[in-house]
Amino acid sequence: MSEPHALIAGAGIGGLSAALCLARAGWRVSIFESAAVLEEVGAGLQLSPNASAILQKLNVIERLRGFSLTPKSIRVRRARDGATLSLMPLADAERRWGAPYLLIHRADLQRALLQAVAEEDAIRIHAGVAVAGFASGSDGVVAALRQGLLRLEASGDCLIGADGARSLVRAKLLGGGADSASFIKRTAWRALIDANRVAPEALRPESCLWLGREAHLVHYPLRGGAVVNVVAVLDESEAAPRPEEDWSRLGDPAVLAARFSSWHKAARSLLAAAQDWRKWPLIDRDPLPGWTAGRVALLGDAAHPMPPFLGQGAAQAIEDAAALGEALQATSDVPQGLAAYAAARRERADRVQRESRAQGRIYHLSGPAAFARDAALRALGGERLLARYDWLYRVRRN
Ligand SMILES: Cc1cc2nc3c(=O)[nH]c(=O)nc-3n(C[C@H](O)[C@H](O)[C@H](O)COP(=O)(O)OP(=O)(O)OC[C@H]3O[C@@H](n4cnc5c(N)ncnc54)[C@H](O)[C@@H]3O)c2cc1C
Repeated sequence: MSEPHALIAGAGIGGLSAALCLARAGWRVSIFESAAVLEEVGAGLQLSPNASAILQKLNVIERLRGFSLTPKSIRVRRARDGATLSLMPLADAERRWGAPYLLIHRADLQRALLQAVAEEDAIRIHAGVAVAGFASGSDGVVAALRQGLLRLEASGDCLIGADGARSLVRAKLLGGGADSASFIKRTAWRALIDANRVAPEALRPESCLWLGREAHLVHYPLRGGAVVNVVAVLDESEAAPRPEEDWSRLGDPAVLAARFSSWHKAARSLLAAAQDWRKWPLIDRDPLPGWTAGRVALLGDAAHPMPPFLGQGAAQAIEDAAALGEALQATSDVPQGLAAYAAARRERADRVQRESRAQGRIYHLSGPAAFARDAALRALGGERLLARYDWLYRVRRN
């Protein structure tokens, strides 16, 4: 009997991780990616232990050696005066949670995943081919494909929609339109700044979170300290941007400087050092009523887009991939395996989605509520604050 065959829509971090996990589970995999060129884009990612443990097993972490940075702490600072509200020690992270906590560039992670995929005979990537629809039956699934003007088909034993927050597979599976995720009226402004343009404190091997009124700022060094990744998140009043503007909108530094004019000078001078800002509209969606139907399942942002306030978008996609591989290895009944995958993952992903939202609300408090938050952060101390992430970061051993 030949090995089962999975079709995957999307070669993002979720789709590539899923392909590797399925190949390990004995599946043949065809990935269809609508983009003609697999561009390695994006900015910094905080890769938490719950995800790095999975990438270690897939031999992806070792490919990131020299590109990743292990932070020694997470520092929380107050916007107006730069006071440190909390210092969470990460030196012990690997022992505490079971795998390293890493800072990486998204492009480096995607390249490492692509290299691992290229070495797997069982996986084929078809770039420039979009999944346009599907028919799922009792014996298999047929995906309708579009390559330019060509209309093609591919058949397999299951279809995994790893096609991102505006997932077509999700829209066809559950209805609601590909664009039903909503803009949360916040934008993330992102920049990479050369190390020689920033103050030495921005190069400390730590992840730094600044909390201010209706805004927060995150920065950390990347690529062995050659650059600093900066993300400034702002509340916005403007309407939702058009989908095609994602990732490509240039931000006006003067607008950013005005919004941060009351912040401590260390934050202002870091923002002023950036040469090129990109604006990223943040989107979110309520947890879905289901992730699977028959031989089709959703994974990653297609299943659970979330704001980045817990830094878990990529990590949760990687957790999905591991759970999918385990579930399909455990049974030859594909619909049952997909249902088991969703059952294993939904509660946790829903919680991460909810807690990401809650974190975002806490970050942007102002007035007495911000004062109370800051006092609580100080009273709690770094070690006890760190313990609040145990549920999220601790590696699951199966
Ligand atoms: C360009 C980009 C840059 C990002 N950079 C960062 C970052 O720097 N930091 C961070 O925290 N998060 C970033 N994210 C978000 C983060 O990477 C995701 O939360 C996480 O990786 C989940 O990935 P995913 O594979 O589920 O979805 P995505 O990363 O969105 O990947 C989905 C893939 O599916 C493809 N696709 C879409 N529709 C179809 C279709 N119909 N048929 C076939 N293929 C299709 C898309 O082209 C894309 O390659 C980025 C996302 C994108 C798309």
